[in-house]
Amino acid sequence: MLRFFQAEKRIGARLYKKLINEKKNPKAPLMSFDDLYSFLDRREKNLIDKICLVGPKEYGKNFTIFYGIKPAPKDLVLIEKQEYFSAKYKKIKKVKTQYLPKSAFVAFIKMKKAMRKELETAINVISGYRSPAYQAAILFIILFENKWNVKNTLRRLTLPGCSEHGYPLRQGMDVAPEKGIENLEDFDQTDEYKWLLKNAKKFGFSLSYPKGNKYGVMFEPWHWHYVEKK
Ligand SMILES: [Zn+2]
Repeated sequence: MLRFFQAEKRIGARLYKKLINEKKNPKAPLMSFDDLYSFLDRREKNLIDKICLVGPKEYGKNFTIFYGIKPAPKDLVLIEKQEYFSAKYKKIKKVKTQYLPKSAFVAFIKMKKAMRKELETAINVISGYRSPAYQAAILFIILFENKWNVKNTLRRLTLPGCSEHGYPLRQGMDVAPEKGIENLEDFDQTDEYKWLLKNAKKFGFSLSYPKGNKYGVMFEPWHWHYVEKK
């Protein structure tokens, strides 16, 4: 089991601030490990390395697949014009810039159109491609917010190199309804989710983490992955 010393927690607080700031950069999901390390000092870098070396098996994740640490694909499409209704702010808001490989993007748009035709509403991609280095940054952010509880963190987010978000051949994406949702955990109660269960397969999309999945990941009704049909 991974333990963190007081000194590391102090360094972590500083690292957290840096990462939260970098997350605002629209290109952050594309960062390489060189990009990430370029704004960290040696001790901050060591802390990132430490969480990247977590043994998933120690945390009950017996089926973690390592997809590898590869550079961002060259055919990523920028997704910028997505909007949703924010219940919190009671107004239309913009989804942060997202990226998907071309084939996944084209399939998603087709699926979205079909959904809109039937439901008169649709879904957005709220998290698409995330490089392994960005995954490491997000993992650290969640770990810090979870008060260094590795087990809870790994239930929500997997390790760099193990995420479908960073693997274009099985491209993961998180979706959310355009009409807004207060708590994404309730996505399985929506018509959009039910529509996806029935129709997503036709477009090449599958639910990655159903209830009781073998990966030891919590039920994620919002997380789907795309595999190009051959
Ligand atoms: Zn996801």
